[in-house]
Amino acid sequence: MMGIPEHWRIDGETRVVGIIGDPVSHSLSPPMHNAAFAHYGMNWCYLPFPVSPSLLPDAIRGLRALGVVGVNVTIPHKEPVLPLLDEVEEEAKMIGAVNTIHIVEGKCLGYNTDVSGFREALRSEARFVPTGRRVAVLGAGGGARAVCAAVAREGAEEVIILNRTLARARRLADDLARLFPQVRFFFLPLEGKQVKELLPSCDLVVQATSLGMKGEGSPLQDPTVFHEGMVVVDLVYHPPETPFLRMARERGAKTVNGLSMLVYQGARSFEIWTGRPAPIAVMKQVVGLWAHQREE
Ligand code: NAP
Repeated sequence: MMGIPEHWRIDGETRVVGIIGDPVSHSLSPPMHNAAFAHYGMNWCYLPFPVSPSLLPDAIRGLRALGVVGVNVTIPHKEPVLPLLDEVEEEAKMIGAVNTIHIVEGKCLGYNTDVSGFREALRSEARFVPTGRRVAVLGAGGGARAVCAAVAREGAEEVIILNRTLARARRLADDLARLFPQVRFFFLPLEGKQVKELLPSCDLVVQATSLGMKGEGSPLQDPTVFHEGMVVVDLVYHPPETPFLRMARERGAKTVNGLSMLVYQGARSFEIWTGRPAPIAVMKQVVGLWAHQREE
């Protein structure tokens, strides 16, 4: 009899992980993790689960009931999911955002792998170390929390948080100032003349709003804030070059998209769920191929 092709292999032993978010259809995590499982010949499967905010508690109960091993958590659930979990690791609790859940003996354990993912991406793609530097972060959601914590932990001197909803930026600045008293945190609205004055003096600018995901929109309209010698990161990776990143590149800044962070945060999630080292080269290859296809 013919052998069963590898891609038909889902059976009664298959272990299931996935991603919950709204939306999730853009996510590259399914192909990236499924390639990693295939690389090791593991009978595991990674699935996208679209979950609207009102159904988040039901989704978490459902994951427990269905014996799912774990999930990544993406926009907009990284902060609201915290009170629904049984235990949250210190780092995730500190920054108030979870992007990885591991379900062990029916208990939901929360982690944040975005912090280490961002740090590794910055090092590997831009050779940038935030120690003593001035950093601007656009956005104040779960992704921005991880970025602020990563640069503060590495000894950034000053972090300016810009957000559409000022109260949210203030809350983030207050939370982090308590955790990292040696770092100066400021918050500003996204619009306004202070942006034009302050941004050019930053060494690193990170775009952590969800704008640009559909290839349109940028939280900043003025290209003159960017210049050579500045590192500019966009957490958004779909499309690989957002309008924001293009504007920064055209002004001579060193630009980094969200693909590298995606790989490194995913690698740590893989390790939490499986207990095995992640095949980072394979995961990079998958996201690289995808980005290449998009550009064609
Ligand atoms: P989130 O918690 O829902 O926060 C969304 C942020 O975007 C908030 O600051 C929000 O501002 C802002 N925003 C949304 N629509 C806006 C608009 N029209 N104008 C201005 N600001 C707007 O989401 P998140 O989890 O932080 O994710 C943010 C982005 O980062 C997503 O695209 C996500 O895919 C990406 N991300 C990528 C990685 C990676 O590995 N590459 C990791 C983490 C996140 P308000 O507070 O005013 O609503």
